[in-house]
Amino acid sequence: IARQSQQKIHKQKILHPATSICALEADGPRKIADAQGIHVTDADGHKAIDGIAGLWCANVGHGRAEIADAMRDAALKLDYFHTFGGHTNDMQEALADELIAMAPEGLSHVFFGCSGSDANDTLVKIAWQYNAMRGKPEKRKIISRWQAYHGTSISTASLTGLKSFHKAFGLPLDFVKHTDFPHFYSQAEDGEDETAFSARLLSRLEQLIEEEGADTIASFIGEPIMGAGGVVTPPEGYWQGIQDICRRNDILIIADEVVCGYGRTGHNFGSGLYGIKPDMMATAKGLTAGIFPMSAAFISHEIHDVMRTASRKLGGFSHGYTYSGHPVGAAVALKVLEIMKREQLVENAATTGAYFHQQLREAFKGHAHVGEIRGAGLVAAIQLMADADSKTFLDPTRKLAAKVSEECYRRGLVTRPLPTMSSLALSPPLTLARGDVDDIVEITKAGIDAVMAAGS
Ligand code: PLP
Repeated sequence: IARQSQQKIHKQKILHPATSICALEADGPRKIADAQGIHVTDADGHKAIDGIAGLWCANVGHGRAEIADAMRDAALKLDYFHTFGGHTNDMQEALADELIAMAPEGLSHVFFGCSGSDANDTLVKIAWQYNAMRGKPEKRKIISRWQAYHGTSISTASLTGLKSFHKAFGLPLDFVKHTDFPHFYSQAEDGEDETAFSARLLSRLEQLIEEEGADTIASFIGEPIMGAGGVVTPPEGYWQGIQDICRRNDILIIADEVVCGYGRTGHNFGSGLYGIKPDMMATAKGLTAGIFPMSAAFISHEIHDVMRTASRKLGGFSHGYTYSGHPVGAAVALKVLEIMKREQLVENAATTGAYFHQQLREAFKGHAHVGEIRGAGLVAAIQLMADADSKTFLDPTRKLAAKVSEECYRRGLVTRPLPTMSSLALSPPLTLARGDVDDIVEITKAGIDAVMAAGS
């Protein structure tokens, strides 16, 4: 458990993502050595439930032999060949058929990449090209939200609404405009119910569009449920209102389903849960259950039609990655989708997810230091509070969510602290059983109680 013992194994030669170099020098990294089913084991032999599914992605659990076999078979048949200039392979074609059949209505074509960041990046470029080709080249701004997480490339770190991803880099780039963070519990004004809260945010969005000029705005991007920003579910009427405003102003909707997609919320896509009809959709993570770096960015018929014209005029879609349509990645995704169907994991996310939320709510009812349980299906956040009764929030600089997360790990559960929100995220594999839920709830409660009782 002690990170120091593992640190000795490897002196720091790696720049870790989103990690403080100084903190790492002090504590050392945690080395994960093995992962099977819903468990991971570290290099010290400490075993824990993977309550965050790797990083919101190991949806079918770990160590599936049939996925390893599918990778091996694909690699032996066609390990790699590019897909530029019209080259294709059976695997990406089969995957595209499966994906379009399950995608939200109206999405007709898919572009394959390697990460959630590149999927969002691709969709921003497509929105720009779409508008330029429609004779609206000024329509380029993208509206995102504070606390959103859309990736870390230069453009997607700009879309991201977490300031720590901006401050050291002089971001966001100025094509991005951020609007309000739709978290009812922390952002509503006194006496406001969810509908009134949504109405206020929507009118502020309309004001922003008016100030900037609708003819300068290409798209609104949003996660159906915000993930890294706090597992924030939309307040009543919010997404419907966003859609109405976007349609009225000829603004495309990009649904960032990198966390919500492929069953996490108990629906194929979070868009289905909230009645969102996206014009474009970014997915990654659950697509391959994290086993291969792969993304799928979807676009509508209408956008595709305009891009056909663009390709005639511009000579092609000048965008893509060496690994776009990777046959081994596509084989993994196909196998993951087959397992999801065979084991009815979307349904399990809905039913076991309902039990999960019910048990979390039950366990923390009236708890002095828990203000809210948020989420849907098998994704949740526990809102830690200095005092829940008087609704006194914790000072995030006290890093209590990280301390609770450490304590839960010690007790056998991986969680993800969301530092800006003083919240603890849970996003376990979709194979979760009721007994696992009971274990997760028991450990999180014990972890929170231990840290809060220590008053640390
Ligand atoms: N979008 C969302 C909603 C995410 O949660 C993430 C990553 O966590 C991304 C985009 C970026 O994905 P990646 O880290 O694969 O670039």
